[in-house]
Amino acid sequence: AAQPRPNYLSGLNPEQADAVESIEGPVLVLAGAGTGKTRVLTTRIAHILNLGLAYPSQILSVTFTNKAAREMKERVGVLVGGAVEGMPWLGTFHSIGVKLLRRHAELAGLRSDFTILDTDDVVRLCKQLIQAEGIDDKRWPARQFAQMIDGWKNKGLGPSEIPEGDSRGFANGKGRALYTAYQERLQTLNAVDFGDLLCLPIRLFRAHPDVLKEYQQKFRFILVDEYQDTNTAQYMWLRLLAQRPTGERPNICCVGDDDQSIYGWRGAEVENILRFEKDFPGAKVIRLERNYRSTEHILGAAGHLIAHNEGRLGKTLFTEQSDPDHERVQVHAAWDSEEEARAVGEEIEQAQHKGRKLNNMAILVRASFQMREFEERFVTLGLNYRVIGGPRFYERLEIRDAMAFFRVVSQPADDLAFERIINVPKRGLGEAAVRQVHDYARAKGIPMLAAARELVLTDELKARPRKSLTDVVEMFNRWQGMLENTPGHELAETILEESGYTEMWQNDRAADAPTRLENLKELVETISGFESLRAFLEHVSLVMDTDNNPDLDAVSIMTLHSAKGLEFETIFLPGWEEGLFPHQRALDEGGRSGLEEERRLAYVGLTRAKLYCHIWFVSNRRIHGLWQSTLPSRFLDELPEAHVEVAEIDTGYGGYGRGGRFGGGGQSGGPYGASRFDKAEPFSGNYNTPGWKRAQANKTDAARDNWGTRSGHAVERIAYGE
Ligand code: ATP
Ligand code: MG
Repeated sequence: AAQPRPNYLSGLNPEQADAVESIEGPVLVLAGAGTGKTRVLTTRIAHILNLGLAYPSQILSVTFTNKAAREMKERVGVLVGGAVEGMPWLGTFHSIGVKLLRRHAELAGLRSDFTILDTDDVVRLCKQLIQAEGIDDKRWPARQFAQMIDGWKNKGLGPSEIPEGDSRGFANGKGRALYTAYQERLQTLNAVDFGDLLCLPIRLFRAHPDVLKEYQQKFRFILVDEYQDTNTAQYMWLRLLAQRPTGERPNICCVGDDDQSIYGWRGAEVENILRFEKDFPGAKVIRLERNYRSTEHILGAAGHLIAHNEGRLGKTLFTEQSDPDHERVQVHAAWDSEEEARAVGEEIEQAQHKGRKLNNMAILVRASFQMREFEERFVTLGLNYRVIGGPRFYERLEIRDAMAFFRVVSQPADDLAFERIINVPKRGLGEAAVRQVHDYARAKGIPMLAAARELVLTDELKARPRKSLTDVVEMFNRWQGMLENTPGHELAETILEESGYTEMWQNDRAADAPTRLENLKELVETISGFESLRAFLEHVSLVMDTDNNPDLDAVSIMTLHSAKGLEFETIFLPGWEEGLFPHQRALDEGGRSGLEEERRLAYVGLTRAKLYCHIWFVSNRRIHGLWQSTLPSRFLDELPEAHVEVAEIDTGYGGYGRGGRFGGGGQSGGPYGASRFDKAEPFSGNYNTPGWKRAQANKTDAARDNWGTRSGHAVERIAYGE
């Protein structure tokens, strides 16, 4: 008699069911956003377990984030009716790599208690090696070298395998030698970096076929989510494990969407999708076309936008969620980013009044510096939020450094802050000198800065550190003298310049240096909204004093990149302006590929929304510290009119004197013309106008009133990747 169809299958459409039930042999599910790819993977695991084809420990299942892994485990549990005793091999490539290495540490030349270095550790290590070689680390910054190593590792290349030209690019041909030294150093330290978590298992498998064979036999089923963003090393890794010694076809199932490939800049190879059928002969390719996530308007907008890319594999998408009551994708204009944050905050509060949960809302930004304004606005409003996938603005390295300078100026007894920056940028104050200052301060019971002042007058220090420390002391004397009579942001700028801190990042050639400079400028600009540097520091301590309750109903703030695979009822997409989104770096490249990756990012953003999607652009944004009058993103003009509505702008913010400036929201009705998104009143580009200053002053008052009386906000930080 035929078995009754298990419950979990009956909810699937025929193609999904096919993907779940095609257990034998390679399967590629190639489908657009929200078509149930992840759901197929989850159900497939449940099905395999249900049929008793494998134990949980025999299923290798790769997700893109740890969060996704946790969710998948939960969902499988629900499908098979609780009690999945662990899925030890469900996780990210990195977390699975750690597990393999711990098990076989000795074969990889490590002890099983090896440490995993974070980016800061890696950079420090690189710096030591570069300096030890007598190479000028100003010309050849450690950070840049660390990124080169990461790039090689993403391709699975060890020191002896990197192409000749590649290694010449650093320190006049010393790249390879430094890379070799770096690996040796890691080994002595019994440590690995992120890239090693991918590369060492590959090396280990190649060197020890018996171990490889053990895992090939163990993993009877392999499943991979977000396959379009696997890099070369990850692909090699999968191919090794999927080989069957007897030549039979592997049970590997990969799901992906070429339109959502957004990690090309980090070495992901969308070609892996195209190679699948070649590398796994006889693969079954399944396409899913029904989107279950979004309304017809959201899908229509996303589909029309992505059609502007060339060289797509091409997919059809439809939804049965069609309803005249559905809201179209809303496009809003704002004067500047501050107004954008205010307006988004207001929309969120309104939605909340209608009974919608904050947990169902997310703000997706293109660049992390955009987060700050939202964070501060939400603190002012007492709206709970969490930042996903990265540090909050005031937790970033460069912001913490800068704040440490400011704190010492304003509170000379702040020893923690002083210690943080005493030798930043490098001024020849080594550990010994710092210890001397420390000990002197302890002995006399005075703060370190005061100790430094006295110490430089003695002959206890060696000549070089004494000179450096004298400079430091004099700088702080000067800045403290300015504290009372200098506007906060001017003082901040002076400090960052005179200390050499800004210059340090300007000379840094690492890819993230421009972002750090952007953040520093953003910081100075923020201070200009406060009466004094002190008032600002007080404000920050309030912003930072937040609790970390994961159960709290909270709005999520994250970058578009970390939103992959997630879904929310309401999505806010701020900052759709030329130069920000698409990002200037992509535009500068000139070619199509950078721009197309930006467009895919826009597609990812739009397709995260289930019901409501609100896009924003502003007429004035500070980019690299300068107010620029900006143009609406070209992506706005690529949205189909039928699914989009240009919202009326109701500024209504007393004190701004801008009421009615956006009358009509700029809609001119012409299809697809740039004129559809008329700019708001042009801005002179000079923010030192009386009107602007007034607005800033008002903001400060309003903010102060609010944060004193509201409480209960909470911020959570979820870090991705191990
Ligand atoms: P993305 O490309 O964004 O990662 P995806 O293809 O992985 O999307 P899922 O996240 O698996 O899509 O599914 C999108 C939404 O549709 C989820 O809420 C899921 O539960 C729902 N869904 C998928 N298939 C069905 C179905 N057959 N019936 C009802 N809901 C479904
Ligand atoms: Mg998915």
